[in-house]
Formats: sequence, C-alpha cells, structure tokens
Amino acid sequence: MSVYDQYETVIGLEIHVQLNTNSKAFCTDDASFTDDPNTHISIVSLGHPGTLPRANKKQVESAVKLGLALGCTINKNSRFDRKNYFYADLPKGYQITQDAEPICLGGQVTIEVDGKEKQIRLHHIHMEEDAGKSIHDQDPDHSMIDLNRAGVPLLEIVSEPDLRSPEEVQALMSTIRRLVRYLGISDGNMEEGSVRADCNVSVRKWGVDEYGTRCEIKNVNSMRFAKKAVAYEAKRQVDLVERGGTVIQSTLDFNPETGVTTPLRTKEDAHDYRYFPDPDLPLIVLTDADIASIQAQMPELPSVLIPRFIAMGLTEYDAKVLTEDRKTVDYFKEIVQHTKHSKQAANWLLNTVKSWLNEQNKTIAAFPIAPKQLAAVIELVASNTVSAAAASQQLFPAMVKEPETNVQSLAKRLNLIQESDASNLEAFVDQAIAKFPDKVNAYQKGKKGLIGLFMGEVMRLSDGKANPKVANQLLRKKLEV
Ligand code: ADP
Ligand code: MG
Repeated sequence: MSVYDQYETVIGLEIHVQLNTNSKAFCTDDASFTDDPNTHISIVSLGHPGTLPRANKKQVESAVKLGLALGCTINKNSRFDRKNYFYADLPKGYQITQDAEPICLGGQVTIEVDGKEKQIRLHHIHMEEDAGKSIHDQDPDHSMIDLNRAGVPLLEIVSEPDLRSPEEVQALMSTIRRLVRYLGISDGNMEEGSVRADCNVSVRKWGVDEYGTRCEIKNVNSMRFAKKAVAYEAKRQVDLVERGGTVIQSTLDFNPETGVTTPLRTKEDAHDYRYFPDPDLPLIVLTDADIASIQAQMPELPSVLIPRFIAMGLTEYDAKVLTEDRKTVDYFKEIVQHTKHSKQAANWLLNTVKSWLNEQNKTIAAFPIAPKQLAAVIELVASNTVSAAAASQQLFPAMVKEPETNVQSLAKRLNLIQESDASNLEAFVDQAIAKFPDKVNAYQKGKKGLIGLFMGEVMRLSDGKANPKVANQLLRKKLEV
C-alpha cells in the first residue's frame, strides 16, 4: 500500500460565476467581455470618490434563481459588505461582497462520478463584484491594468468540504456550469473566466475525524486544471506531512504549464479584511411575492424533466442527454406537441439533428427546421409512408435546404413515398411468386427463409418503394395458401 493511500483528500470549492447581465453590478457600465481594454469604465468602475453604487436587479434575480435551483433557503434580508484590501486592480480599495448575510443559505448539488450520484452540501451563495485585471506580460517594465472587469457581477457558490477527489471537483464545476447556462444567468464560458474556482484542499489520515489544515488554490479557470491542481496539492501535502512537516494555511497559485502550486501568501483571516456593511447600499429585501415571481420566470429543471421524459418512453440516457441543454429541451417539447412518438423525437434530436449541427458547427438555436416540420417527418415514418432510412438520408438533407416546404410534398417530389396500398402491391407480389415456382414449392415445404428472395423481387419490381411490412404480409398470405 502506497503512503498516499493512507490519506484522504478533502476539498471545498468556492465557485465564481460571472453573470450575463447587460450592466455591471453597481453602475450602468457595459458588463460584457471585450479585448479592448478600459473601454467599459465610468467614474464608478474607476472608484472615484463621491460616486455611489446602485444594486443590479438582475444580479439579485439571478442569485435567487440559482438558489432556488439548488434548494437553498433564500435570505429575505441580505446585505452587501465591504471587504477591504489594497490591490492595484481594485481602485476603491474594497470589494463589495456579502459576508454576514448572503442571499442564499444552505442547499446542495447532486454530482455524478462513474455513474454514482453524490450530494455536495452548499454553505451559501453570495453576490459580489469582480476586480479588474492586472496584465504582466505586455510590457517589460510595467504592469498594465484593465478595469473593464471591475464591478462585473458575480455569484460565489461556497461548498462545504464534501468533495473527496479531483474527479468530484471536476463534476461539481461542470454541474454548476451546466446549471447556470440552463438557467440563462451566465454564458458559462470558462476560457473568458465566466466560471472559475478557488479550490481548498487538505489531507487527513483515514479514520481521523478532524479536517487537516487547508490551502486554497486561487482562480482555477478550467476543469482539467482544477483536477490537476488538486491532485498535485494533495500529494504535496502528504509528502510534507510524511517528512514531518506541517501544512501552513496559505493561498496558492497553480501554474498549468508546470502543473505546480506555489504560495502567493499565507492566508489572511476574515478580520484582516475588516468586513463591514456597505453604508452606500440598502438592504436587499425580498418578499414571498418577489421570490414567487422570480421562480415563475425559471425554466423547468432537468430534475423535473428527466422523470417526465422517461415516463414518456425515453431511456434514462436519452432523457439526461436531452436535458443538458435548455434550447434542446424547448425544441423537444415543441415536437411532441405535434406527434405522440416521443421516443422517435428524441432519437431524431440526438442522432440525425445532432450530427448535422456538429458538422455545421451550429447550435440548435440556429437549426433551420421547425419542430412542427420534424414532427411531420416522424409521423411519415411512423405511418410507414417513408422508410426510416429514406427519411434521415434523403428527406432530412432536403428539408434543411427547404425548411418551409410541406414535408409530404417534398417526400413526394423526392419519390420517397412507399407503396403501402395493398391492391397496388398485389401485382408485384403475384409477379414475384410467378417467377419462382420451384421456390414456392420449397417454401411451402418449410424453407421459410425463402421469403427474403420474394421480398427482394418485390422491392426490385417496385423500385424499392414497396412498404416492406405490407409486402411481407401479403407475400406470406399468398405463399401459405
Ligand atoms: P473562510 O471563511 O476563511 O473563507 P470557510 O470556512 O468559509 O473559510 O471555507 C472556505 C472554503 O474552504 C469552503 O469551500 C470550505 O468548504 C472549504 N474548507 C474549509 N475547511 C476546509 C478543510 N479543512 N479542507 C478543505 N476545504 C476546506
Ligand atoms: Mg472564503
């Protein structure tokens, strides 16, 4: 048994989600991302003395939506605090955040690792603003500062130390990312830093009840890096403890290129920040009616939709994949208003439509075919009017080019309508039987496999348009006389 197996890794995450509001958290500056530095700034973002912040309604609504989705208790009297520290990209000298009275309390997230579900408890979710960005690699002698990001609204989701492996860290980050996208409160774009996590890591020997001293790896903006950083840090701590050292609570930086964590500073305690209520901002007071009206704007969540979709005949796998994206859910819901073949609707979306979107590098939002039109195809296949193969290989590509055309007419024009009328098929069946008298004999003596030969002939005679099911039935009836 390796020495590392004698230790358990304990991790708690502080996940920062950048919201997709139009304006910043406390002023009307544009909150969107741009490469053009210092263009989304006003006297408030610049922290000029005498300027006043104003809370952003959409930030509050986004926090409540996320809190409701995660089973948190909504704090009806939350408030903003100042967290005081000096940093070049923080012109006010303090960050507006929430300390003693955050907007959401408790709650939990269900994560899945290797097919097994686990509940991760949340401590709370709070609202805050982002700081600006210091840029150290553009000038040999100076650091540059871009304040576009200063004041951009964030939610910080603070988990309890319930995670036990790098895989669980990744699962929690990706679950949160999917949820905030689903709720439509963030673009969840990790490359632009819209979701990033501080990873608190400690180790303890198996069987020990108390947690070990933790270190906090700051600002990890990729799930792959988070996994690597946590694994590296846990190993570093075990090595240290095994050598007889002690872990000192500190803040670390992770370098993705070297895969190594390095100390930034030993961890400040909360009292170093001298948190106090921001006197410039009022209490955020929410009534039951406010909360109910925010809830009414929320989409139905995967946790509700998955069981319903399974009851409609979808597999659990299909239901899960389908509900990964809200636009796909909306599309699916609309198809099944026009056809009762839900399972087929899911198959179309997850196979033919998905491959087409991937090939075109498009999302469902840019899919040209209306749900009603796709439902019409599903109906044509279900009624055996068009074969499944012809529908996906010929009709679908044609529909993409002519999304408005009536589906039945298009199928007719492409010559895809199967011959299902028994009286028309009868002539082909009779010809096929007449062609092989000795095989008819053999068939009647028990070589039932010969049905394939007759079917092949019927298909040939009908130019492939005979409905196989009807033709097969008719053949059997005639051969068995
Ligand atoms: P602070 O008040 O200093 O920010 P908290 O107790 O609020 O510290 O915890 C911050 C984060 O650290 C939370 O996500 C929590 O789960 C995590 N955490 C706390 N103690 C430990 C520990 N011993 N090991 C790993 N993570 C921890
Ligand atoms: Mg903290």
